[in-house]
Amino acid sequence: MSYRGRFAPSPTGALHFGSLVAAVASWLVARYHGGQWLLRMEDIDPPREVPGSAERILATLDAFGLVTDAPVLFQSTRNDAYEAAFVRLRDAGHLFPCWCSRADLAVHGGLHRDGHCIAPPDPTRPPAWRLRSPDRTIHWVDDLQGPQAENLREVAGDFVIRRVEGLWAYQLACVVDDAFQGVSHVVRGADLLESTARQIYLQELLGLPTPGYLHLPLVLDATGRKLSKSDQALPVDPSQPLPALRQALAWLGVAAPDAADSAGTLAAALGGFKPASLRRSSLTAIGTL
Ligand code: GLU
Repeated sequence: MSYRGRFAPSPTGALHFGSLVAAVASWLVARYHGGQWLLRMEDIDPPREVPGSAERILATLDAFGLVTDAPVLFQSTRNDAYEAAFVRLRDAGHLFPCWCSRADLAVHGGLHRDGHCIAPPDPTRPPAWRLRSPDRTIHWVDDLQGPQAENLREVAGDFVIRRVEGLWAYQLACVVDDAFQGVSHVVRGADLLESTARQIYLQELLGLPTPGYLHLPLVLDATGRKLSKSDQALPVDPSQPLPALRQALAWLGVAAPDAADSAGTLAAALGGFKPASLRRSSLTAIGTL
């Protein structure tokens, strides 16, 4: 099977150091396997989006020499595909409408686990749609973190597929588009390790192939918390890509002989790169900056 990887940022702010690490690693692993590397803009959550950040993220990646092998896929153009997957799941009886408030759910430990809504149906407002979670442990082998097991009902409960506002859930859009783009391997941050079982189950229900998964350790801030865009944490400067690129490679444990520009640095890093030598455990970014 030919390797096809991807990087799938959400346009909720500037590209930060943790995202750069994921972008660089997914690019390196794809190129190591002689494969393609694609970009997908996960712009399906307008309330959380920062205007202009999709364009800024793409321009920043470009400045780092991380160039997509196919036109960027914008999830905002994919409504029909998500609708088709939704109808298929609903018609097969896997979904139920849910009018529960946070307070209703709190009574049940914050998660639905019994396959039906606790609140009375309210015809005056649209429901969220949830997927009935089976009491089943999904097993898979992560290419970096090793064997994984997750009980769907325990960890995810009956998770949301379509939100009250009519917005599509990340889990559905991600699974539909990984298949649509022919992604054979997903490389991303370990904050999404827990999502993988949900995605494997959705692939099974929708008759889609399951890609390989490699979850990178998280880049932590000085206090040991995950770096996130909402913290405005360590945004990277597209006008000076080299220092951040060298830091990202050092953080990943990848040696990179000095080169004059970012494309040259990436090529040099690829020379001695092996996916098996990627860092496995989390580390604060600050220690390397
Ligand atoms: N859009 C997600 C994020 O920025 C990543 C999704 C993925 O790689 O599966 O966190």
